[in-house]
Amino acid sequence: MSVVADRQQSQEVVGEAARRRTFAVISHPDAGKSTLTEALALHAAAITSAGAVHGKGERKGVTSDWMEMEQARGISITSAALRIDYGDCVLNLLDTPGHADFSEDTYRVLSAVDCAIMLLDSAKGLESQTLKLFEVCRARRVPVITFVNKWDRPGREPLELLDEVEQRIGLRPAPLNWPVGIAGDFRGLVDRATGRYTKLYRTPGGATRAVEEDIDPEQAGEVEGQEWVQATEELDLLGEIGAHFEEESFLAGESSPVLFGAALPNFGISSLLNTLVDLAPAPGDKPDAHGGARPVSAPFSGQVFKMQANMDKAHRDRMAFLRIASGRFDRGMVLTHGATGRPFATKYTQAVFGSERSTVEDAYPGDVIALVNANALSVGDTLYTGPKVEFPAIPSFAPEHFAVCRAKDASRYKQFQRGIAQLDAEGVVQVLSSEVRGEQAPVLAAVGPLQFDVVTDRMAQEFNAPIELAHLDYTLARRTDATCAPAAHALSGAEVLKRRADGELLVLIHNKYRLRVIKRDNPDLVLEPLLAGGTE
Ligand code: GDP
Repeated sequence: MSVVADRQQSQEVVGEAARRRTFAVISHPDAGKSTLTEALALHAAAITSAGAVHGKGERKGVTSDWMEMEQARGISITSAALRIDYGDCVLNLLDTPGHADFSEDTYRVLSAVDCAIMLLDSAKGLESQTLKLFEVCRARRVPVITFVNKWDRPGREPLELLDEVEQRIGLRPAPLNWPVGIAGDFRGLVDRATGRYTKLYRTPGGATRAVEEDIDPEQAGEVEGQEWVQATEELDLLGEIGAHFEEESFLAGESSPVLFGAALPNFGISSLLNTLVDLAPAPGDKPDAHGGARPVSAPFSGQVFKMQANMDKAHRDRMAFLRIASGRFDRGMVLTHGATGRPFATKYTQAVFGSERSTVEDAYPGDVIALVNANALSVGDTLYTGPKVEFPAIPSFAPEHFAVCRAKDASRYKQFQRGIAQLDAEGVVQVLSSEVRGEQAPVLAAVGPLQFDVVTDRMAQEFNAPIELAHLDYTLARRTDATCAPAAHALSGAEVLKRRADGELLVLIHNKYRLRVIKRDNPDLVLEPLLAGGTE
């Protein structure tokens, strides 16, 4: 490519990156993530009517066994990226699988986003799964926008909810808007920056845009009466305590802009979209594994953050989801696979929109592409053009489910070993072993129990080595070191195993009460929490 063309392309890439926002919603099941996803897409006019995004129960083209499993459970295993065009912006919403399919993938998605929306149910506040996901955001310094949902239903006081966020997770809340009327008697929202009051009217069924009407704040008092007085008092209080938005602390993951609304009747969704556009960071230079950073304008590079197997029963294919870090992706380009140095052809690359897939022609930093025939790729792998690029590995997360795994048929031990090693390398599950248990009976460790189902199925179907799993009564893992390992091993109600992938020594412990006793009785023992889920 000529120097001029090269410069033009990098300018184009910088421009395209600047208009992208790549984010995920972190929430507890039932807080309204699917509803919010639809509402965002609806408001942004990417879909014509609510219900077309997740389409629970009406999925078409069910061909693979994963999808059968998915249907049987009524959950979504296919973690997709939804592209929402909004004004000049491209919003890439990455799905964080929840419910029963909560797994390491859920956490890994957070390594591929630049921002997260923490979705709270106004009646419930912070819930367990939200807390775990928030911890991953905090560890990775992902900025968090808070959306307090279901304001159309009876819930808690707004100030009380903000207080909970600040007290429990130390995230300083900065409300951008403020509700008029208590949860359940929602009248409208005041924009704190402009003082503008938007009155909201419910639309039947909530399937279309909520009717929003701007009312002069001078007249709002007459219209809303006592509710307006209370909101004004609370707004004054917020001003006094200085709960203002601050960009620096938001980007550092220390404070969070807060919005109130209700996804189902589409209340306050446009404020959320505008906040994403105005405040969420665009894809920036990505730190590499050697202390440098890869500018978005550099030649193409990206990192695999999720693998998905068996999309098609006939092909036993694996698909890799890659987030682009730099450069422009053109379908058909031949990339280099960092781990092997081998070329990787991208003829059949797909963009994933909801449950639909379509071939992608070009894509830019912040976009997610799905690479088919990706059998050689693993989570964390880098693909690039030009000189070698290495990004930091995607960390493994704290497992909470453990099971001993054995080959059902001892004569298939070779296949068993090969399969377990492959699934470990792909990051489907963490494989632990110890001399006591022996190589033939590794312990599988998972963030969510569905990971075990995936292993069981793939070991039988793909590696022809059916397995038996015996669940272990541990719920916690802590990292220790070689000096402490013998002492940790001698503890009752605990066991030390080595993680094969990185050689870390993990102490498995029954539960948090046992952990507390162990810590009390052995204050010098090294027992470091792992990333996320390390709730004590
Ligand atoms: P998810 O599990 O987080 O994806 O939650 P869903 O989007 O499936 O929502 C869970 C339930 O809450 C459903 O019955 C929704 O209709 C309901 N819901 C979601 N958002 C709202 C809201 O803003 N107001 C009310 N009243 N219900 C909501």
